[in-house]
Amino acid sequence: MKLILLGAPGAGKGTVAKQLMKLDGSAQISTGDILRGAVQAGSDLGKQAEAFMKAGDLVPDDLIMGIMEQRLQEPDCANGFLLDGFPRTIPQAEALKDLLKRINVDLDFAVEIDVSRDVILDRLTTRRTCVGCGAIYNVKSMPTKVEGVCDKCGDKVVQRDDETEEAISNRLDVYNEKTAPLVGFYSNENMLLTVSATSSEAVVEAIQDRLAS
Ligand code: ADP
Ligand code: ZN
Repeated sequence: MKLILLGAPGAGKGTVAKQLMKLDGSAQISTGDILRGAVQAGSDLGKQAEAFMKAGDLVPDDLIMGIMEQRLQEPDCANGFLLDGFPRTIPQAEALKDLLKRINVDLDFAVEIDVSRDVILDRLTTRRTCVGCGAIYNVKSMPTKVEGVCDKCGDKVVQRDDETEEAISNRLDVYNEKTAPLVGFYSNENMLLTVSATSSEAVVEAIQDRLAS
């Protein structure tokens, strides 16, 4: 499957992507994970992205398109891909459309995961992420067995720099201003599936139904 996952920070894009990946081996591509990896590695890309990310602002479109142009042409994407956190602006969506045309790839559709702001705020402040493997936990609903230690890889599990209340509130504002218009963009292209999510399993099911129809 070749899908775009849209939704506010904390809507569950990453969780849904991981579940879909298990179904058919499609590659999960999270621009957030790629950027966090670059920051940790101290690469040029990381140095350019770091301050934007820490404040909860978007990284400039040209940096993101540079990453994605390469990433989408890696061999694992031939089976399918799940775009998690990209595109995030109308210019990125336009550039993606051109890129896919150029490399001769057809998208299935874009999925809007619709979750209320209250649920999102609660999720983000209680979310914890493994610095090693990216596994996601929640101090209330899905804690690690040992506090601060990843069940899967043993690395440190921390609150992300951009998950302070201030940065979260900025990320939600940025989402509403810059990313929410993509819902209209993909709807105009007749490529939108909206799911009001009660659980990630329900979202996965709605996606499978649409793919089968
Ligand atoms: P979330 O969806 O939980 O907000 P991500 O992990 O997708 O978080 O992204 C974290 C940060 O990385 C964003 O706040 C932004 O600074 C940067 N980022 C990720 N993807 C993009 C993108 N497509 N365009 C611009 N910035 C991005
Ligand atoms: Zn881990």
